[in-house]
Amino acid sequence: MRFLKVILSIAIICSAYVGDYVVFRSKYSSSHTFRSLADCSVHATLGFLSSAIFFSHEHSLNIEICVLNVLICTFVSLFIDIDHAFVARSIYLKDMTNLKQRGIFHCTTFWLLITILLLLYSYFQKKINIYLLSFMLILAYSSHHLRDGNRRGLWLYPFGSSPPIDKHLYIFLLTVLPHAFAYLYHTFKGGFVKNFVVYSIV
Ligand SMILES: [Zn+2]
Repeated sequence: MRFLKVILSIAIICSAYVGDYVVFRSKYSSSHTFRSLADCSVHATLGFLSSAIFFSHEHSLNIEICVLNVLICTFVSLFIDIDHAFVARSIYLKDMTNLKQRGIFHCTTFWLLITILLLLYSYFQKKINIYLLSFMLILAYSSHHLRDGNRRGLWLYPFGSSPPIDKHLYIFLLTVLPHAFAYLYHTFKGGFVKNFVVYSIV
C-alpha cells in the first residue's frame, strides 16, 4: 500500500504539470473546444487521483466501495465547472469560456460552509457515512479550487479573492492534502460512530 501511495502522489504531480502544459501551452491551446475539454479532463484526473490517495489509506471499506467513492469524487470535481453554464446562461463553450464572474460552485466559502454543516450533522447524529461524504466533497472541491486558484486565486466570498496560488505551492498542496485529509478522517472518526470501541492488544 505504501508503494501505491507513492505512485499516486507522483502521478498527481505529473498530471498537474503535464495537464497545465497541454491546456495552456500546447499547439492546440488556441482552440476553445480543445482547451475546455482538456481542462475538464485534468480536473477529473486530479479529482480521481486525490480521492484514490485518500482511499489508499482506508482499510475498513471493501475495494468495490472505494472504487465507487473515487468515481463519485471524480464526478463532483468535474461537475463543479457546470456553473460556467449558469453564469453564462448558455450551454455553448464560446459563451462559457473567459467569463469575468465565477459561479457558486467555484466559491470556496460556499463549500466550506456545506462541509462544516455536514460534519456537524454527522457528529451530532453519529452518521459515519455523512462524515465520509464530507471528506469526499472536500477532496473534490479542494483539488478543483486549488487548480483554478493557480490562475485566479481562491474566491472567499464575502471576503474577496486570494492572490493566485503559486504553481509549486498548488501542486504541493494537491499532493499533500489528500494524505492530510485521510489522517484527519481516521484521527477523528471515533467521534462520529455510535458506541465506538477502541480495540487494542494491550
Ligand atoms: Zn473550475
